[in-house]
Amino acid sequence: MPRVDPHSYFDSEQPRTRHLELDLAVDFDRQRVAGQATLVLERPSAGPLDLDTKGLVIASVRTDGGRPISYDLDGEEPILGSRMRLTLPAGTAKVVIAYETGADAIGLQWLGPAQTAGRRHPFMFSQFQPIHARTMIPCQDSPMARVTYDAAITVPEALTAVMSAGPVGEPVGSEAGMRTLRFAMPQAVPTYLIALAVGDLTSHDLSPRARVWAEPATVAAAAWEFAGVERMIVAAEEMFGPYEWDRYDMLVLPPSFPYGGMENPRLTFLTPTLLAGDRSLVDVVCHELAHSWTGNLVTNATMDHFWLNEGFTVWAERRILEALHGPEAAAVGWAIGRTALLESVQRFGADSPFTVLRTHLEGVDPDDVYSSVPYEKGALFVALLERTAGRAAFDAFIRAYIRKFHFTSVTTEQLMAFVEQQLPGVAARVGADEWLNKPGVPANAPVFRSASLEALTALGEGWPTGARPAAAQVASWSPSELLVYLQHLPRQLDAASCRWLDAELKLTDRGNYEILVEWLTIALGSDYEPVFGRARDVLLRVGRMKYLRPLFGAMGRHPRTRALAREIFAAAAPTYHTLSRRVVESVMEKYDG
Ligand SMILES: [Zn+2]
Repeated sequence: MPRVDPHSYFDSEQPRTRHLELDLAVDFDRQRVAGQATLVLERPSAGPLDLDTKGLVIASVRTDGGRPISYDLDGEEPILGSRMRLTLPAGTAKVVIAYETGADAIGLQWLGPAQTAGRRHPFMFSQFQPIHARTMIPCQDSPMARVTYDAAITVPEALTAVMSAGPVGEPVGSEAGMRTLRFAMPQAVPTYLIALAVGDLTSHDLSPRARVWAEPATVAAAAWEFAGVERMIVAAEEMFGPYEWDRYDMLVLPPSFPYGGMENPRLTFLTPTLLAGDRSLVDVVCHELAHSWTGNLVTNATMDHFWLNEGFTVWAERRILEALHGPEAAAVGWAIGRTALLESVQRFGADSPFTVLRTHLEGVDPDDVYSSVPYEKGALFVALLERTAGRAAFDAFIRAYIRKFHFTSVTTEQLMAFVEQQLPGVAARVGADEWLNKPGVPANAPVFRSASLEALTALGEGWPTGARPAAAQVASWSPSELLVYLQHLPRQLDAASCRWLDAELKLTDRGNYEILVEWLTIALGSDYEPVFGRARDVLLRVGRMKYLRPLFGAMGRHPRTRALAREIFAAAAPTYHTLSRRVVESVMEKYDG
């Protein structure tokens, strides 16, 4: 049984699904998606076909001619879900499965009106990476099994549906109070890139090929924040070659979205915490855009090779940042990334197998070991290859890599064979085996220096010996430079120090969440009561995992903040995405008392 993906029942010797036809209705009252999925096979087939499902309630399985197909649905395995084994009668070209989603489908989040910006309509969105497409669609849910798809999505008529696909025609009224929107995705994608969101949505055009979608209350701020996206697309095309996905649209989600962004093709999903009002957090858009090449065109074969998606994309993000804003800005980005990497390595332990790049996650839930390692250690490895090969040679290599592997899913071993072919000897010179297969951060990791970074670091680390920034100096810092400064302050300060910082740097009222959360992490870790109210407001509203982990972590240090954490979590947990809730629970499990 050549099961080739530790997180899927996909069997590479069985028939492949090449296309999906989804006909689904979104039922907000019951919090279910129901309808049918038609799996179009690569050729008429017979015999066993194993599909991934999780929590799905199956009504029937038929051929497109209406003949019943027999199937067995195995018991649910905690990580993978239930294997659904179909026995195809001879000549089966299409499989039609009628079903609905289960309660608590982890790939879907249902929000009540109070959790939206407009507060009048409900909202739902999907998040299928890494292995959650199976909670909405019975499918071969491995990145190695790419599909094109069409969809007809029926929603309450006051709402709009958007997908990681192009719209087809105008919405049409269906049964009373409902309407149906149609979509087509003609390019083959891994199932984790199928995406759906439904809510009170409107859009604003940013360029002939880019627009932003958001709730009406948010769309103007989003259009302003992301106005520079076309320049980013052009900079990315100069590095990677033409943008192949037709449109680059963005969707700003409600604040419970658990990630910063998700690179769903044609429609990047973004957290509203990027709307800082000063365009300082658009590096996340650079990142998701870069995934259009690294991740979406060339995809990790399984989650064991996740660093191929994220390492190349972080490296690309910083190259785009450098092209648009210069090497100093890129160096600041690398410094912030390094802090995140060291935090992740410390959390797992420097010898942990979860700090290697090429992982072996059989029996491990990829969501449980999600961290900065594939992102930042991966990006450092790519940067080291670039430095060793030379920029011109490496840029040619990247374009050749994308040309050769586009619309396929690759392993670390395939990448390294291609590196050896295109850049002979470079892998050995950088010690690639240690980077890929050993834990921790190798000693030859590239360092990105700049005079301003060194001054910021020294100033932060000099706090205990009395170093303080002058007001004029603070005024000259970019938001990212202020963040670097805060990251180098001690994690616990006395109340007088907290008071001084807040008065001089005006931290508690910041709308830039990177700065605000870094500050609140220090202040909560210092048991500094004046920020408790602000921390409560943030945590009751925002479900982004990147912020929940440090804030709930910092609150573990003192009895009073532990009590605060428990009070906040009791109130906020029902509004968090399951993934976010699990992160907070894992942090609070480690509290001392
Ligand atoms: Zn990414």
